[in-house]
Amino acid sequence: EWGASDELAPHSSIQPDCAPRSPIFDDVYFSGDGPAETNYVFLRGNNLPARFEHTAQFQIGELGFGTGLNFLVAWDRWEKAHKPENATLHFFSVEGFPLAPDDMERAHAAWPDLGERAGVLRSKLPPPLPGFHHIAIGDHVTLTLFYGDALEGLGRANANINAWFFDGFAPSKNPAMWSAKIFNEVARLSADKASFATFTVAGMVRRNLESAGFAWQKTPGHGRKKEMLVGALNKADRISKSAPWHRRAGPINPRASVAIIGAGVAGASLAYELTRAGFRPTLFEATAPASGASGNMAGLIMPRLDVGDYPAGRFHISAYIHSLRLIGAMNTPGLFNPCGAKLHATNDRERERHQKLINQKILPNGWIEPHADGLFFPQAGVINPSRLVECLIGGTDVITARVSRLDQAEQGWLVSTENQTHEFDAVIIANGLDALRFTQARGLPITGSAGQIDYFPDAPPPDHIHVTGPYCAPSPDAGADGGLVIGATYLPIDLGHHAKTSKDQTDANIASVAQSLPDLVRNLNTPVSRASVRCTTPDQLPIAGPVPDWGFYAGAYDGLRHGRREAFPDGQMRPNLYILTALGSRGLVTAPYVAAMITADLAGTPAPADHEVYEALHPARFFIRDLKRGYAKPVS
Ligand code: SAM
Repeated sequence: EWGASDELAPHSSIQPDCAPRSPIFDDVYFSGDGPAETNYVFLRGNNLPARFEHTAQFQIGELGFGTGLNFLVAWDRWEKAHKPENATLHFFSVEGFPLAPDDMERAHAAWPDLGERAGVLRSKLPPPLPGFHHIAIGDHVTLTLFYGDALEGLGRANANINAWFFDGFAPSKNPAMWSAKIFNEVARLSADKASFATFTVAGMVRRNLESAGFAWQKTPGHGRKKEMLVGALNKADRISKSAPWHRRAGPINPRASVAIIGAGVAGASLAYELTRAGFRPTLFEATAPASGASGNMAGLIMPRLDVGDYPAGRFHISAYIHSLRLIGAMNTPGLFNPCGAKLHATNDRERERHQKLINQKILPNGWIEPHADGLFFPQAGVINPSRLVECLIGGTDVITARVSRLDQAEQGWLVSTENQTHEFDAVIIANGLDALRFTQARGLPITGSAGQIDYFPDAPPPDHIHVTGPYCAPSPDAGADGGLVIGATYLPIDLGHHAKTSKDQTDANIASVAQSLPDLVRNLNTPVSRASVRCTTPDQLPIAGPVPDWGFYAGAYDGLRHGRREAFPDGQMRPNLYILTALGSRGLVTAPYVAAMITADLAGTPAPADHEVYEALHPARFFIRDLKRGYAKPVS
């Protein structure tokens, strides 16, 4: 399954019965008995066995994931510590040359004691695609891997690392892993009093650590190595990575109660992620969970592909991989039909675009297949949206009531429904277009469009999804009798109006598929139709993040309007108020990933996306763009 992309060719370096060695760097992944060295250098060097005890959350950062040995040993040790229930270990690592799974397996075979964990790790490894991969290893262990150059990965990351493992190849052979720039980013990603350990005492490493604010000391090394280095961060000056107006959320109190307004796929995904992270979410839903667009009888899980390396493109690829992983882990019958999807090229321009995507190696081999008439995605499929929402909500409390207002309290927020007021530490607005009903979100440029999908239960299902603009798909329940789904229409709709089904829209759906694939839609009987409202933004990306204090923004950043270059202050946000909306027609693919992004910021844990992606979804982006263009809509 592992296709090699140019930049990230898995390199086969592990010979049977030899210590794993890299032909690129001419150095070993570890020396002697791997686990004993890891325990000594990295775990003991960071005093981890003791620091793991009675800890609710711990973050490890590593330079050089290699065979995953350090991760496996740390995970094993974490499981053995005495900790509060739900205590979570977050492991963040960067790796420029991911090992092929076979090589990893050969390396892992040497450590039978770690065999079971090693098997779990291998089964969850991401495809060798550059960028961030966020993996739930178990309920209480997460692994965030950046595949690509270490400096780039650190520069784009966000985390609050408590202990670092510096495990590049020897500085003489691999100087890029030990540079001053690397350690400056390491310091930026460190929590207060972050510690580090490394096997080397090279002078260049000591100097660069010192200039980034780390104090170091030499201690006896492992085995034949005389000395190694340990130390800690002196100062915690954390430089903001983003533009000051793209302020990130959180972190907030670890057990915070969180009201989520709206129980569609956005709210449900938040409930799922927040629960996993130890927060206490409650969903508020005016009608019933999945009553909007998330309640359609079918939805597509397939990637949106953008030519060029831009945040929007990276976001959509990561979201696709993330949602497939999540759906796979749910293992629920009737939830997902992994039938594959074909994106048809219906004209020369599209054929050209598809060729560019293939040349760009936008997805690894095995994830995208070129065909004469388009691109095929073997992992894509049809999902049952309401079942997905149900799985995500799980045991989360749902209050069935329309939230009419949100008021800031002394600590936290008052959430008022028609006849009750509830108090929460934090609130996340996740109710689609209805977000505009709250004064705090008014002024966001979100608009509605109504869409109808039609289900023909008696029609023979296609073998896989066809997308020609509209789509034609089998039902999500591969085991059921079949039938065929066609979608979706687009009609603008205003806030407060309901989407209505009509025969005209059914005819439009059929006609648009018939243009390219007439055989699929001949002799159809009467469908079951459903119409709902999707919510979109001018740049077609969701809105996700903390809610700005618009009054402050209008005053503090007015200078942008006159093109002045001045030192602008950090953005002021409404404390503990967040928003996740405008998922457009791709919410089933993107909501779980965006929810993981917001949750990581609230928990202060390693971010699953790079900071440019966070900025691309930031609630303040339109306001700032408008200011820079010389005008800004007034916001209340
Ligand atoms: N910690 C690993 C383990 O437990 O197996 C061993 C790491 S090995 C000594 C060093 C790793 O750093 C290799 O996997 C190598 O591919 C990676 N590496 C070297 N230079 C890099 C760079 N500039 N960016 C990212 N990774 C790099």
